[in-house]
Amino acid sequence: MDIKAPYSIEPDELLGLLDVSAETGLNSAGASERLRKYGKNRLAAATRLSAWTILIRQLKSLIVALLTVAAIISILFGDWPEGIAIIAVILINTAIGFFTEIRAVRSMEALYKLVRIDAKIRREGNVKVLPSEQIVPGDIVILEAGDIVPADLRIIKASNIESSESSLTGESVPVGKNTEAVSEDTPIADRTNMLFMSTPITKGRGEGVVTATGLNTEIGRISALVQEAEEEKTPLEKSLDRLGNKLIWVTILLAVLVIITGILRGRDILLMVETGIALAVAAIPEGLPVVATIALARGMLRMAERNALVNRLSAVETLGSTNVICTDKTGTLTENKMSVELIATDSGAVRIVEGGKEGEAAFLVDGVKENPREDDILMKVLETGVLCNTASLNGSSEKNADAIGDPLEIALLIAGLDAGIDRNELLSRYPETGVEPFDRSVNMMATFHKSDGVYRVAVKGAPDSVLESSTSILTEKGEMELTKETKEEWSEKNEELAGRGYRIIAHAEKTAGSPDEEPYANLTFLGLVCLLDPPRSDIRESIERCLEAGIKVVMVTGDQPSTARNIAHAVGLVENEEAKAIHGKDLRNIEGLSERDKEDISGSLILARVSPEQKLDVISLYQERGNVVAMTGDGVNDAPALKQADIGIAMGLRGTQVAREAADIVLKDDSFSTIVHAIEQGRTIFGNIRKFIFYLISCNVSEIMVVTIASFASIPLPILPLQILFLNLVTDVFPALALGMGEGNENIMKMPPREPGEPIITRRSWLGIAGYGLLITAAVLGALLISIKELGFDDQRAVSVSFLTLAFVQLFHVFNMREARSGLVKNEVTRNKYVWGAIMLCAVIILTAVYFTPAAQVLSVANPGADGWTLVIAISLIPLVIGQALKYVLRP
Ligand code: ADP
Ligand code: MG
Repeated sequence: MDIKAPYSIEPDELLGLLDVSAETGLNSAGASERLRKYGKNRLAAATRLSAWTILIRQLKSLIVALLTVAAIISILFGDWPEGIAIIAVILINTAIGFFTEIRAVRSMEALYKLVRIDAKIRREGNVKVLPSEQIVPGDIVILEAGDIVPADLRIIKASNIESSESSLTGESVPVGKNTEAVSEDTPIADRTNMLFMSTPITKGRGEGVVTATGLNTEIGRISALVQEAEEEKTPLEKSLDRLGNKLIWVTILLAVLVIITGILRGRDILLMVETGIALAVAAIPEGLPVVATIALARGMLRMAERNALVNRLSAVETLGSTNVICTDKTGTLTENKMSVELIATDSGAVRIVEGGKEGEAAFLVDGVKENPREDDILMKVLETGVLCNTASLNGSSEKNADAIGDPLEIALLIAGLDAGIDRNELLSRYPETGVEPFDRSVNMMATFHKSDGVYRVAVKGAPDSVLESSTSILTEKGEMELTKETKEEWSEKNEELAGRGYRIIAHAEKTAGSPDEEPYANLTFLGLVCLLDPPRSDIRESIERCLEAGIKVVMVTGDQPSTARNIAHAVGLVENEEAKAIHGKDLRNIEGLSERDKEDISGSLILARVSPEQKLDVISLYQERGNVVAMTGDGVNDAPALKQADIGIAMGLRGTQVAREAADIVLKDDSFSTIVHAIEQGRTIFGNIRKFIFYLISCNVSEIMVVTIASFASIPLPILPLQILFLNLVTDVFPALALGMGEGNENIMKMPPREPGEPIITRRSWLGIAGYGLLITAAVLGALLISIKELGFDDQRAVSVSFLTLAFVQLFHVFNMREARSGLVKNEVTRNKYVWGAIMLCAVIILTAVYFTPAAQVLSVANPGADGWTLVIAISLIPLVIGQALKYVLRP
C-alpha cells in the first residue's frame, strides 16, 4: 500500500486506493492486519534497553578495568587467593551495579509510558480514542485545534484548519490547509492538503486519511537520521559527571603518591600497588549516577501517583528551586464545575435554582417562581447560549453525567434544558452553517445559523468585549440603541456581579445577510449570564503551604479583574477583597515600562485579562529578577509560555495535546494542590540526592585520608586493599541507596527554596566532608594505635580493629546526614526504614566477614575479641557524637 504522492490524488480516489470509507473507517480486523504489516506508529524503535546492554555497560567501567589490572598483578605475583578474591569483587560489583541500574532503567521506562499521546480516529463507524501508536495507514483521523497530528495524513475534510510545520519546514508561520490536490512535484512545504506527524494544529478542525505511519512519515525519515544522537543528560547528571571527573584525577594523583612513598619506605611493592588501585576504586563515584537515577525515578513515580506526570527529567531538579507559581484560575484554583446561577437582562435578574434532574430547576424573580417561557428576553439569552455552543449533553436525562465539552458550555446547555430548550430541536430550526471558535484574542465566540433566508448569529464572550461590539440592546420595548449611558450601566452591573465571584459571559446576537459577515460588529446585546464555579476545597491549605515554603503564588487569568479578585480572596491568595489586580492592558509593551511599573506588576498577586502571549512577558519579568517560574497553561497559544517558563505545567484534563507536549509537567487532575505536591517531591528528591552524595563522598574521602596519612607514618596500613574494596563496593552502597529513597523532611515545605544554580555540593558541604573525613580518620588511626600500643595486639588483629572501626563508623555516619534543622532523634534519616534495613544488612555482612572463616581468610580479618570489639564500637560512635554536637552548635 505504498502510495506515491498522495497529495496529488483526489480524496475519493485515495480512499479507494487505501481501501477505506471516510464514513466508517477501517474495521478492527483490517486495522490489526495492517498493524502487523506496517508496525506500530512510533518514531523510535523499541526504546527498551535490553538487560544484556545494561550488563555490558557495567563491565565497561573504569573500576572494572582497574580491578582487572589488580587481579592480573596479584596472579602474576603468584598471589592466587588475592587474585581470585578481586575477581569475586568484580563479580559482586557488577551484580550490584546491574541490579540497581536495571531497576533505574525499568522505572524510567515505566514513567515514559505514562505520558502517551492519544488520537481520535474513526473505526467501524464509531469515533474512538486510541493511543496513536495503534494508528495504521488508511485510518480516518479527526483533528481540531490543539491536537498534535499523529501520522502523515491526506486531508479529506477541512474547516479553517491550520498547522504549524516549523519542525519540518522551518516555516514559523502556521499554514492554512485544504483538501485540494496539488501536483506531484510539490515540495513538502507546499503540500497544502497534507498534515504531517508531530506538527500541531493551531486552528480549525478537519479529518484526514493516514498515508504513512512511524518511520515512513516525513518526520520519521528525518528522525531516523538523528536517532543515534546521545540521550540528553540533565544538569544534575552533568554536574555529577564533572564531580566524578574531578575526584578521579585527585585520587589518581594521591594513589600514585601513596604507591611511591610506600615503596620508598620499603613496604611491599605488591601491597602498595594494590592499595593504590583500591584507593582509586574507592574514590571513583561510579555509583553516583545510578543511585541518582533511582532517586529521581522513585520520586517521579511518587509524583505520578499524586497526579503529576513529569515530561522532562530535569524538571524534577528545577521544581526544588521554584519560587514563583503563576497559576490559572478556572479549573486549577476552582472546580471547573459550573452552573448558571443568575441571568441579568433588561427585564431584570432571574435566579436559577438547580434541581438535580431534568424539570426540577426553578426560575425565580425576587424569590418568586416564574415561567421562563413568558420572559422573551430570557428565552433569547438561553437560546443564544444553546446555539453558540460546542458541548454536548449526549442526550442523558441524568444531567451532566455523559456531557462532553467545556464546563461553561455544558452549564449553558443545562440552563437551556431547564427552560425546555433542546439543542437538537433548536438546531433543526436553525441549522448551523459556521462556527467562529472561542478566540482568546477577542474573548468571544460566534455561530451562524440559517433562518428564513438570512443568518442568525449567536455570540457569547467576555462582557467588556461583547459590550464593545454591541450597538443595540434588546429591551422589553424591543430593540433599542445601546447608548453610552446604558453601556456604562451594564459595565457597572458586570463589575458588581463579578465582585461576587461569578464568572460572567455576555450574550448577543444579530442577523446577517451572508455567512461570511464579520460576526463581532453591530451586535444586539442580550444580557449577562453569571456562572458559579466554586473554589476547590483544598486550595487554601496549599496556598498557605506555598507561603511557608517561600513560594509566591500569582493568579494569571483571562477572566476579568473583579471575578479574579473575588476568587483570589476566597482561596486565601490575597487578604482583602480590594487587593490590587493588574489588568492585561497594562502589560502591553512591557519592555517600555519603567522599573517602578515593573516592580508594581511583579509585586501584584492578581493578573487579569491576560492573553497567552502576555504570559511570556510575565515570565520574563519574573525571570529577569532571578526567579524560577512555574507557569500553567492549557491552550495551543500557551505552548510558548510553557516552554519559556522554568517549569511549564499543562492541564491533563482540559489541556490540549500541544500544551501537554510543550510542558515539563502534566497535571492529571488539573489541580493547583498537585503542583504544590510536585514541588515538595522535587525538593525531597534533590535533598535525597544531596544526602547520598555527601555520604558517599565523605566515606570515600575518609578512606583516602586514612590510607594516605598512614602511608607517610611508620604504622601498618590501617586497611588492606581488599578491605577497601569490601567497604566501597559492598557496605557503602546500601546506606547510600537507602538515603536516596527517603521520604524527606516533614519540614521541607517550611524552608525557603534552594537558590537557583546552587551546586549539589556547596562550599559548606565540602567543609563538612573534610571535617567528617578528619574525624573518621582520627577515629580509625586512634583505634589502630590503641590496639597496638595499649592492648598489645599483633599487626593483623590491630588492622582488623581499624578496619572494623572504619566499617562501623561509616554505618553510624548515616545518622549525620540529617538536615541541620531537624530533630536529633526524630528526623528524616531515623524515620527512613530503608536506612535501618541497610544498617542491619551491612552489620550482618561485616560479621560474616569476621566469623565466616573463608571470608575472614580472604579479607585477612582476625577476630578482635571482646576487648577489640569494645574498642571498635566505642570509637566508631565518637564521630557520630562529635558530628551531632557540631551540627547542633553550627546549625544555621
Ligand atoms: P480563565 O483564565 O478563567 O480560564 P479564559 O481565558 O478561559 O479565562 O476566558 C477568558 C474570558 O473569556 C472569560 O472570562 C469568559 O468571559 C470568556 N470565555 C471563556 N470561555 C468562553 C467560551 N467558551 N465562549 C465564550 N466566552 C468564553
Ligand atoms: Mg480557561
